[in-house]
Amino acid sequence: MVRDGRVRSDYKTLVKEAGARMLDSGLTVATWGNVSFCDRENGLLYITPSGMDYHQIVEDDICVFDMSGNHIEGNRRPSIELKMHLGVLNARQEAAACVHTHPIFSTVFSTAGENIPIDVHDEAAQALGDTIRCCRTYALPGTEELAECAREALGEHANACMLRNHGLVCIGKDMEAAFKVSTVVEMVSEILWRVRAMGRDYVPISMDNVVAMQEFVKTGYGQY
Ligand SMILES: [Zn+2]
Repeated sequence: MVRDGRVRSDYKTLVKEAGARMLDSGLTVATWGNVSFCDRENGLLYITPSGMDYHQIVEDDICVFDMSGNHIEGNRRPSIELKMHLGVLNARQEAAACVHTHPIFSTVFSTAGENIPIDVHDEAAQALGDTIRCCRTYALPGTEELAECAREALGEHANACMLRNHGLVCIGKDMEAAFKVSTVVEMVSEILWRVRAMGRDYVPISMDNVVAMQEFVKTGYGQY
């Protein structure tokens, strides 16, 4: 394999381990879903390979591209959703990690074409940034149209969006943050689904409290 001096093995390890974590977390099954990480300093994207068992892949199976989509390193074919990962991470410069999964409850909402509001639950208010919107239309996997729809649905503030009849795309400043968003969207989707199963609708948290929690996460949560 041709080696590029900018490529870092620790980022390959990060993405490899994130693939296994995605599978183990139940957020997706088999070889579906994909994960990427952008090294902003060097302008490189590390992404999982297409159709390989996430428990079997090794560091050199991770594919490396520049942020214009030029191939840099790796002998494997990249995830079919390379364009979407590039599009989303180019549009949202504050994010570095992108996790695309097919979890059941969020996918139920994506299939119904229904957005998930963040005033359902306080973890949603803290972690999701904005309403989790469905893409405006169904688009085939791997297409430029899907990448464009995902970018549009994410907008400037949401940390996730839903691909119609397909799944979830979550971003974060690091891999941990992107996984947290993935877990929270799925949890809120399940809560909302269960509230509806009671024949009820949710009672929203006031927007003042949503904003207060967003501020609290920025300034008051965790240790000094
Ligand atoms: Zn998918």
